[in-house]
Amino acid sequence: MNPDNRNMLRVRVVAAAEAALSRQGFVSAIDVLSGIQWLDQATLKRWKQAQLACLEAGIQTNLTRISEAMRLFRAWATEKHLSPSETAYVAKTPARTTLRFSQSGDATIERLYRTHWVSPDLSAKKRERIKETANRPPELVVVQPLDGDWKCHRCGGSGDLLIMEEPGPSCLTCAGLGALVFLPAGDAGRSRRAKARSDVHAVVIRFSRTRKRYERQGLLVPPEALRDADSSETGLVVADATFNDRSRE
Ligand SMILES: [Zn+2]
Repeated sequence: MNPDNRNMLRVRVVAAAEAALSRQGFVSAIDVLSGIQWLDQATLKRWKQAQLACLEAGIQTNLTRISEAMRLFRAWATEKHLSPSETAYVAKTPARTTLRFSQSGDATIERLYRTHWVSPDLSAKKRERIKETANRPPELVVVQPLDGDWKCHRCGGSGDLLIMEEPGPSCLTCAGLGALVFLPAGDAGRSRRAKARSDVHAVVIRFSRTRKRYERQGLLVPPEALRDADSSETGLVVADATFNDRSRE
């Protein structure tokens, strides 16, 4: 790349990175690629739903320029003394596969892409919260359709619940979520406990014709997670009692 082009690219990369840093306290490769307009939101959404082989396949420029932009981004982050924080990128699909960034799939390149750069000016608590949020897998959304007039794109069946996929709606059995049980909204503590014990869960929403928006109906969780959640209240009491015994020693 000639020096003029590189300088122009550096200016764009730094502007995008600075904007993301001041907005959210950290910067990711995706923030930079979106900020310099090499990656549009629709493509990003498709990638997150595992509909692209890799992120680079959805970027509208050649690999040399992408690598150069990422190199300039890392040089900027190092210069600013930002802290690297490796982040999990998991597909928004029931299978929860790890999302791939690069054409090559090279482990080092993947790690570089996954690295978020966090501002050292934030408190340790804030940094921890940012890390926790970034690593949280995306929530699956299941729709309670208003009528049964829909067909699963895999088996042709229908039902009370569906999950939207790229080719169309899928029934939960075909999507691999058939074993989950419904926990209606309303008991925040119970929902939180069940969610914390679920390796996979989905939010159930339904469109309200009167309010003209989707509303949360509850969660789908594995039956054992719900059982654990319901027995854990007594569990907490036992743990407290043990703690008190020990503190008396
Ligand atoms: Zn089906």
